[in-house]
Amino acid sequence: MSGEGGETPSLEARGEELERALSQVQDRAGWEALRVQWIGRKQGILRSLLDDIKKVDPAHRRAYGEAVNRLKETAERRFAELDASLLAREREAARRSAAVDVTLPGRRPQLGSIHPVTLVIREMEEIFAELGYSVAEGPEVETDYLNFEALNFPQDHPARDTQDTFFLENGLLLRTHTSPVQIRTMLARKPPIRVICPGRVFRNDNDLRHSPMFHQVEGLAVAEGITVGHLKGTLLAFLRRLFAPDVEIRLRPSFFPFTEPSAEVDVTCQTCKGAGCEVCSGTGWMEILGCGMVDPRVLAECGIDPDVYSGFAFGMGVDRVAMNRYGGIPNIRLLFENDERLLRQVRG
Ligand SMILES: [Zn+2]
Repeated sequence: MSGEGGETPSLEARGEELERALSQVQDRAGWEALRVQWIGRKQGILRSLLDDIKKVDPAHRRAYGEAVNRLKETAERRFAELDASLLAREREAARRSAAVDVTLPGRRPQLGSIHPVTLVIREMEEIFAELGYSVAEGPEVETDYLNFEALNFPQDHPARDTQDTFFLENGLLLRTHTSPVQIRTMLARKPPIRVICPGRVFRNDNDLRHSPMFHQVEGLAVAEGITVGHLKGTLLAFLRRLFAPDVEIRLRPSFFPFTEPSAEVDVTCQTCKGAGCEVCSGTGWMEILGCGMVDPRVLAECGIDPDVYSGFAFGMGVDRVAMNRYGGIPNIRLLFENDERLLRQVRG
């Protein structure tokens, strides 16, 4: 700041210099650096311009001082304006980044689905409800009496061996079938009785085709005058509802301790519709359940007079039916591994 009268043009040039610098500020950091450079209290350009007043001819000091102060006021106002516009720009950017784009597709919540075994049990319950049956349930831990003895299993029956049955330390066992529920029902009710007993059962067996825990649905009907004809008609009606209206069944003589006579029941293979395929080993039939007329000794054991009443019972594994119904489940244990992919497959 030297030379008399040269101060004012010099300050005008400074003002233009400031405007150019302000116009090039991109962001908050640039703004702050420029602010310190210009109006910083210790070493800012305006501070040093004010200090230069000492060097100015006393006659021009007043005008010089006023000009520097005007430049300082302008600089402060322009920095404040730029501050406000930077702030507005930052807020707009934040708003944009946080904004909800209503044109994006929604996110679907993951819905749970019902396990295939539960689906099949419910379907069976529904069919039998229409036939006048109610659902009976019982504990999974049973006594030897209710699981074996009352069902006419002889003491040396292989099912009573630890190789087949999970015995508990206190003389109880994990039920090997839902038949004890039939005994409990006959002990508690008087005929006519029509119940189905769905539930978990346990056997000491574990490979690709067997799981130590699986599901059964058993049925029991006791009344006066019940015959094998009623049994066959009931099973045919049930299996036609469960599979297809045109399936046929066949009964093959078999043996169970608590029924006499007993039969294994086959149903038309649903894969080949009876023509013969890999699934049914070319026979056209699938084994589906076991059944028979309740042994008079079992009725008598439950306090039901076998000279007045007769009954039939049947039982089937639910898991095989579920594997069959929801094709592509090759391994029974897949049903119980809680793999969500299986549930999605069934739902799909
Ligand atoms: Zn077949």
